Amino acid sequence: MQYQLLETPIEYLKGVGPNRGEVLKKELQIFRYKDLLNFYPYKYLDRTKFYKINELSTSLVSEIQIIGKIIHLKTVEQKRGKRLVATFTDGTSKMELVWFQGIKWIKENIALNSPYVVFGKINHYNNIFSMPHPEMDLLEDYKKNNQTALQAVYPSTEKLQQKGITNKVITRLMQQVFMETQHLFMEIFPDKLMDELKLIPKRDAFLNIHFPRNGDLLSRASFRLKFEELFFIQLQLLSKNLVRKNKIKGFAFEKVGDYFNRFYKEHLPFPLTNAQKRVLKEIRNDMAHEVQMNRLLQGDVGAGKTIVGFMSMLLALDNGFQACLMAPTEILANQHFIGIQELAEKAGISVGLLTGSTKTAERRELHEQLENGTLQILIGTHALLEDKVIFKNLGLAIIDEQHRFGVEQRSKLWKKNYIPPHILVMTATPIPRTLAMSLYGDLDVSVIDELPPGRKPIQTLHYFESKRLKVWYFIKQEIAKGRQVYIVYPLIQESEKLDYKNLMEGYEAISRDFKHPDYTISIVHGQMTPKEKETEMDRFVQGKTNIMIATTVIEVGVNVPNASVMIIESAERFGLSQLHQLRGRVGRGAEQSFCILMTGEKLSNDSKIRMDTMCRTNDGFEISEVDLKLRGPGDIMGTQQSGILNLKIADLVKDQDILKLARHKAIELLKEDIRLEQPEHQKLKEIFESLAQKNNIWNYIS
Ligand code: ADP
Ligand code: MG
Repeated sequence: MQYQLLETPIEYLKGVGPNRGEVLKKELQIFRYKDLLNFYPYKYLDRTKFYKINELSTSLVSEIQIIGKIIHLKTVEQKRGKRLVATFTDGTSKMELVWFQGIKWIKENIALNSPYVVFGKINHYNNIFSMPHPEMDLLEDYKKNNQTALQAVYPSTEKLQQKGITNKVITRLMQQVFMETQHLFMEIFPDKLMDELKLIPKRDAFLNIHFPRNGDLLSRASFRLKFEELFFIQLQLLSKNLVRKNKIKGFAFEKVGDYFNRFYKEHLPFPLTNAQKRVLKEIRNDMAHEVQMNRLLQGDVGAGKTIVGFMSMLLALDNGFQACLMAPTEILANQHFIGIQELAEKAGISVGLLTGSTKTAERRELHEQLENGTLQILIGTHALLEDKVIFKNLGLAIIDEQHRFGVEQRSKLWKKNYIPPHILVMTATPIPRTLAMSLYGDLDVSVIDELPPGRKPIQTLHYFESKRLKVWYFIKQEIAKGRQVYIVYPLIQESEKLDYKNLMEGYEAISRDFKHPDYTISIVHGQMTPKEKETEMDRFVQGKTNIMIATTVIEVGVNVPNASVMIIESAERFGLSQLHQLRGRVGRGAEQSFCILMTGEKLSNDSKIRMDTMCRTNDGFEISEVDLKLRGPGDIMGTQQSGILNLKIADLVKDQDILKLARHKAIELLKEDIRLEQPEHQKLKEIFESLAQKNNIWNYIS
């Protein structure tokens, strides 16, 4: 009942009203009382220190405050409009306060010769200090309102400023809402947890995050609120995983049979790495139980995920089931098909390929063989999600490069059998551990963290456009050694035409410098039909062409071991994870491989960091950490839709330790009381359930 107060529409708060309410909703998504309380400061200003005007120096860059009086006010006309200039003195010296906007209002409301506290950044012009658009309080009011040493500064927008909703106004509203609601902040965490982590009570946390009494209380308030936010996310993800394990039945692949054993003993093309062996065990262990497997297999490009996937399929086959593998593009599906067929042939296993280009007659036959069970493994694109594709008994579905597929598509796979098949998601997008924890809390994660032996690390170099001739010369040398070369152009969705133009211009320029018949060139781009792409790709795969010019269609999975040079054009236009993915196309054979990043001369700071990171390391996880820091979690591939990352106060990069702690505590709690039935967990349960109803997390996965 009482909680309803927190749901009160924001316009009913004293000091808001319909007009400000409108702005708060539009600009800050503050709809209700509770949204305002959960609107957190992004920094705090120390307002214990007051400066004297004769102490000011040009090296003071942050906001400062001064006590003084306005002794004179004048409006100055200038070319670009008016400005209001006040002469301000504190007895030690004089300075100016300046306004460019809201002049009329200021003139009418400002008192001459009364003591004010002015607060803001200072400038130094013509030998006089000035403070543009200061925050001002009459000294009297200031003393009344500012009992706190640290003053919260809230995020703002231009609109808010225009409408006069300044930081001061927000602070006042915050005081109002806190006063009205503070009696509601009952503790939700059990005493044991409060004691153990020395958490401060919820009410005190709200009080001190908005009106910190001192630095220590502020950091404890922030810790408590961050912990709480992350704790509930982890609780939902983890409990979902547990519920799934309790409820969702899966096939138990009890035996390891001939298919697996014979392949392992007789046909394995190379010894598995320890990492491959380890994850294979994890997968086998999962599938041996009557609980559906839902596992994410992470491994850097070239780590050897395919063979692990294939051997997992053999386990399904050994237990009388079929398996499928879904790839995001036709090119990739084709490659998987070729690779897996080669492995499967020796073992006498039937493999089919189903993509958008599969002919009707062929398709009909595939459908039939799938239904009667003569086809054991099906490889394909999303074409295999179609309703017409019916398996006799699908036991394992593997999804390669999962960020290309939506949730809905994954759930379609689940429905391909009366009991959902085991699911293995393979991804080469290294996800920082913290993100994986938050995003895939309900998936089990296996990591191949070791590359097959004998790989020479790819050398990455960054060149400016002016060094193009040097780069061309280098390519010619490599081609003379029998190597092949990729040249990749950026692809940006908004402007496919422009990209096409860049690509074609590049193609023409390259054709001029690498003349036929000395050199042969393939080109693959988004405006070609799948058939055309495949033909071109094939020519390159078979070594008939020296150079492959492409947009990012080749980004995922394509495997041409003889290609040893990757040139990335306009590399500054690519994100780190994409650069890393592209680089992974080379370095697959025995030869030393190179990745060359071509950029314009003028680079932003972030671009420089990206280029340097690429040149410094080949480690995908390290790169993803840098990426996370540069872009923030919201932009990391595949996370945009998650909703999990709409964190109000915690930060997945900065608060990794709190995240780990929250996860650990959530696990402990669920171990002790999985249904949250114990009396001391009732408050937790209420919140947990109300969050679960919102569904934002639950929808994302599965
Ligand atoms: P990814 O993890 O990027 O999908 P792949 O499965 O395509 O990597 O493997 C990359 C290359 O490494 C392939 O040519 C594959 O045959 C080879 N490979 C995989 N595992 C090993 C291994 N243990 N030893 C040697 N080569 C391996
Ligand atoms: Mg792969």
